[in-house]
Amino acid sequence: MVNLESLYQELILDHYKNPLNKGLASNPSASVHHVNPSCGDEVDLNLIVDGELIVSVTWDGVGCSISQASTSVLTDLVQGKSAQEALKIIDAFSEVMSSKGSIGGDPEILGDAVAFSGVSKYPARIKCALLGWMALKDAMLQAKVIR
Ligand code: ZN
Repeated sequence: MVNLESLYQELILDHYKNPLNKGLASNPSASVHHVNPSCGDEVDLNLIVDGELIVSVTWDGVGCSISQASTSVLTDLVQGKSAQEALKIIDAFSEVMSSKGSIGGDPEILGDAVAFSGVSKYPARIKCALLGWMALKDAMLQAKVIR
């Protein structure tokens, strides 16, 4: 029998070991540095936009597998989307994270990020999962593509 939780764990580990979009692109529209002091996770994120379009989200970071893997998943998910679409994805993920395990998340919207739904049962790890997502929201605000 295939255990969903172990599949999800494998996906998280895979993104941790082989992160996507890691390595900061130059000349970003906005650049942010976010930390999660409770775990020691850090993320630098560079956002490049063209009008409302997210051209690239690159990042660098250190920290636990959840924080690093979830940033990797996020950057892949929002590439080529509009800022409004990206905001909807971030809001959907935040809703899952505040659900205490009751919402699994819609894979149509969240893609691989549904793998982190189980994290919402562990209050100490929620900030790890949200770190990159809040960094992107901050970068989008700085780039003035959302309000
Ligand atoms: Zn962490």
